[in-house]
Amino acid sequence: MNSKDIRKQFLQFFEGKGHKIVPSAPMVIKDDPTLLFTNAGMNQFKEYFLGINKPKNLRITDTQKCLRVSGKHNDLEEVGKDTYHHTMFEMLGNWSFGDYFKEEAIAWAWELLTDVLKIDKDSLYVSVFEGSNDADKLEKDNEAFDLWRKIVPEDRIIMGNKKDNFWEMGDQGPCGPCSEIHVDIRSKEDKEKVSGASLVNADHPLVVEIWNLVFMQYNRKADGSLEPLPAKHVDTGMGFERLCMVLQNVQSNYDTDVFTPLIKEIEIITNAEYGKDDEVDIAIRVIADHIRAVAFSIADGQLPSNTGAGYVIRRILRRAVRYGFTFLGAKEPFMYRLANVLTQTMGDAFPELNEQKQLIQNVVKEEEHSFLKTLDQGLVLLDNIIKSSKDKTVDGTKAFELYDTFGFPIDLTALILGEKGFSLDEAGFEKAMQEQKKRSKSASEISKQDWNILADDKEQEFIGYDALQSDVKIVKHRKITSKKDGVQYQLVFNLTPFYAEGGGQTGDKGYLESADGDVVYIIDTKKENNETVHFAKNLPQKLEGTFRAVVDATQRQRTEANHTATHLLHQALREVLGSHVEQKGSAVHSKYLRFDFSHFAKLTVEELRQVENFVNARIEGHLPFEEQRNIPMQTALDAGALALFGEKYGDTVRMVKFGQSVELCGGTHVKNTRDIWHFKIRSEGAVASGIRRIEAITYDAVKDFYFENNRSLYEIKDVLGNAQDPVKAVVNLQEENTELKKQIASLLKDKAKNLKGDLAKELQEVNGVQFLAKKIDLDAAGIKDLSFEMGQNRNDLFLLFGTEQNGKALLSCYISKELAAVKNLNAGTIVRELGKHIQGGGGGQPFFATAGGKNPAGIDKALEAVKGYLK
Ligand code: ATP
Ligand code: MG
Repeated sequence: MNSKDIRKQFLQFFEGKGHKIVPSAPMVIKDDPTLLFTNAGMNQFKEYFLGINKPKNLRITDTQKCLRVSGKHNDLEEVGKDTYHHTMFEMLGNWSFGDYFKEEAIAWAWELLTDVLKIDKDSLYVSVFEGSNDADKLEKDNEAFDLWRKIVPEDRIIMGNKKDNFWEMGDQGPCGPCSEIHVDIRSKEDKEKVSGASLVNADHPLVVEIWNLVFMQYNRKADGSLEPLPAKHVDTGMGFERLCMVLQNVQSNYDTDVFTPLIKEIEIITNAEYGKDDEVDIAIRVIADHIRAVAFSIADGQLPSNTGAGYVIRRILRRAVRYGFTFLGAKEPFMYRLANVLTQTMGDAFPELNEQKQLIQNVVKEEEHSFLKTLDQGLVLLDNIIKSSKDKTVDGTKAFELYDTFGFPIDLTALILGEKGFSLDEAGFEKAMQEQKKRSKSASEISKQDWNILADDKEQEFIGYDALQSDVKIVKHRKITSKKDGVQYQLVFNLTPFYAEGGGQTGDKGYLESADGDVVYIIDTKKENNETVHFAKNLPQKLEGTFRAVVDATQRQRTEANHTATHLLHQALREVLGSHVEQKGSAVHSKYLRFDFSHFAKLTVEELRQVENFVNARIEGHLPFEEQRNIPMQTALDAGALALFGEKYGDTVRMVKFGQSVELCGGTHVKNTRDIWHFKIRSEGAVASGIRRIEAITYDAVKDFYFENNRSLYEIKDVLGNAQDPVKAVVNLQEENTELKKQIASLLKDKAKNLKGDLAKELQEVNGVQFLAKKIDLDAAGIKDLSFEMGQNRNDLFLLFGTEQNGKALLSCYISKELAAVKNLNAGTIVRELGKHIQGGGGGQPFFATAGGKNPAGIDKALEAVKGYLK
C-alpha cells in the first residue's frame, strides 16, 4: 500500500467512527509563548483538554505536521543516525474530548491495525502503565490492562514505567497514563532467538513504538502536583512514516515511498550511493529528512533567521549542508534542488508545498550559499588556530568561538583537526558551551504560578471590536517571574475589550479601575491557550467586584490605522507588482507597520510611488469598513478573501473588507479609510532571497514625519545662508570642494619637492648608513612619495618619518633594498616594534612599511628608539 493510501485509510477509518477530519495545524506556532513548533498532534487542542474552550466536534481525527527539534521533545541528534526518528514527521491521531475513553480507544486502535491494515498480531506488543511510588503515587492502569487482556495474550502486554507510559506535554499542563503499541519487524529467525518483549523500549531499530494512546486525566500544576481534569480525554498519536515502514514490509522509514524518491534525487545530484557506506548513508538520511523540515517551515511562513524559530530552522538546514559537505563532497548549494521531488511526493496532502515551491527553492539556495561561504571562511580561521597552537591540542574556547560567532560546526572542527593530527580540547569546548547555555537560559526562563481561580466564568468573550470599555470581573490571576520583565501579573476577565496580540497586531494597553478608584495599568495583552491574558505590574488591592476596563484609545486608533493600511498595502502590491505577491509576515504597531512579501526584485522609485498613490487614493476614497463575523471559510474564499499560508483558521472566519480589499482577519480596523489620514512608505529592502520588506507609517506619525523633514530642510537652508534653492547650493559646495581638493594635492606635491631638498641636507651618516628620523607634516601618501623620491639613486638610506593626522599617529619607515639585505634590516618588523610607542601596529615590506596608532604623543619616543637599529 502506498503512503498516500495509508494516510487516507487512517482518516477514513476514524471518520467511520464518527470523527471529523480536520486539517493539520501549522507546524510553526505563532502567538504562543510556550512553544515554537508543534511537537505532537494534541498541541492545537490544548485549550479543549484544559477546559478553556469547548470543541464543536467531540471526536476529531487528522494528520499533524510535527517537528521535534527543541524543548521537551528533541530528536535532532538521533535523526539520520537511526532509521526511525525524524525532525519533521506526520502524526496520525484520533481524539475524544470528554467523549469516549479507554475502551473504544483501545478497541479501535486494535481493529485498525489488525483487521483493516492486516498487521500480523504476533508482531505486536502493547504496554500499560505500571504505577509509580514517587510523590505522584499513581496507580497501575488496571482499566487499560483489563481491556487489553480481552484482545491480546498476556505475554504481549508489557508493564511500563513512568518515563515510557505516562505522557506529559511539558512541565505543566494536561497529562495521563498511556498505552503504547510496538511492532517487531525482525526476521523470523531473529524473533526465535530473542523475544520481542525484551526489546520493547530498548532502542532497537526493528522493535519500535508506532502508536501511543494517551488517556488524559490530570493537569500537572506549577508546584508539581496533579489535579484531575474536569473531563477525561483520549489523545492518540501514530508515527505515519513508521506505519508506512511496517505496511510496506521494509526495515527503515527511509526505505518507504515517503523517502525513496528524495534519496534517489540526492544520489543523482551528489553522485553518492545509498546503502554502501555507513557515513554516506547517515548523510543522505540527514539531508532527506532535513529538507522536509525546512521546506515545511518556509511554507508555513517561517524563514531561517538569527533568532527564535527561524534560528532553529537555520540550524537544521546547516546540519544537512555540513553532512553533505563533509561526507558527500557537496561544495555547492544542492538542497534547494530537492524541492521538486518533495512537492511531487507530498504536495497532494500538503498543497502549501506546491504553492510555495519557488520561495522554498530561493530561500534554501541562498541559505546554503551563505553557509558554504561561512564554512570556507571557517576553514581559513581554523587553519590559523592550528598554526598558532603551541601543542597538538586545540584550545576548546577557541573552537567554541569559531562555533558561536561564525556558526562553524564543532564536529567539523574535530574532524579536520583529526585529519591534521591535532586533537580538540573537548572539555574546554563543553565548558564554554554550558556557560553560554546557562546565560541564555536564565535570560529566557519564566516561572509561572498556578492560576488563582476567583470565579468559574467560562464566557471570556472578546468585545473589543465594538467597545473600548466595559465592566468586567477578574476570573483568575497569577504571578509570573522572568529575568527579562521581572515580576508581572496575568489577569483573565470574564469578558474583555482588550485585543490580544495576534495576526501581527500588537496587544492593547490600558487600565483597570475599581469602584473605589484603585487603578492598575494593563501593559500588554496576549493569548495563551486561546484565552485573553492581560499583563500588569501589580494586582488591584481588592480582586473581587466589578472593574471598569478601559483600552488606551489613542494607541488603539493608531494601531487600527496601521492595520487597515496594511490591508490596502497588500492589495496595492498585488495590483502594482502582480498577484505573485504574497504576505510573508506583518507587524502592526501603533507607531508603524511592517509588511514582508514575496517578490523577486527591488521596487523602483516609480513602483513605490504607485503603491503609495494606490493606498492614498483609497484613503481619500473614504471606503467604509465592512465586516462579516463567523462565516464559513468557504463563503469567505468564494467572496475573494485572501487567506495566509501557515495561519490557523477555525471552521468559521471573520472577513474584513474595504472596497476591493478582502481579507480573513481577526484584527481591529478603522471605521472608514479616511481615518488613516495618509500613508507614507519609510523604507523598502530585502529580508531574504525573494522576500522584500516595506516599513510605512500612517495617521499622526505621517504628520511628525513631514514636520521633522521640513525642519531639517529649514535648518539646511539656514546653514546655507538662506539659500532659495538648497539643492543647487549643495551641488555648488560639492563642486567647490572637489576643486579645492585638487589644489591642495598639487600644493602638497610642491611642498614635498622642496622638502626633499631640505631633508637631504639633514641626513646623518651613522655606521655607513644615511639616516634621518624626523616628524614632518605630510599625509601618508605624501610621505610615501617623498621617501621613494629621496631613495632614488641611493643604496644606503634609512628613513623614519612620524606624522600626526586628525589626532592619529603614523610612522613610515623606508630602507634602501640593498641596505636592508646587507644589514639584515626589515622595515616591517621595525615599524611593528616601534608601533607600541604610538599604541598601534602595522607592517609592510622589508624596504617600506607603515604603522598607525592612536597616541601621537609617542611619535618622538619612536623617532628616538629607531636609532637602536643602526648599531
Ligand atoms: P520514541 O520513544 O520512539 O521516540 P515517543 O515516545 O517520543 O517515541 P510519542 O511522543 O508518544 O513518541 O509520539 C507518538 C508517536 O509518534 C510515536 O509512537 C511514534 O510512532 C511517532 N514519533 C515520535 N517521535 C518521532 C520522530 N522523531 N520521528 C518519527 N516518528 C515519531
Ligand atoms: Mg521520542
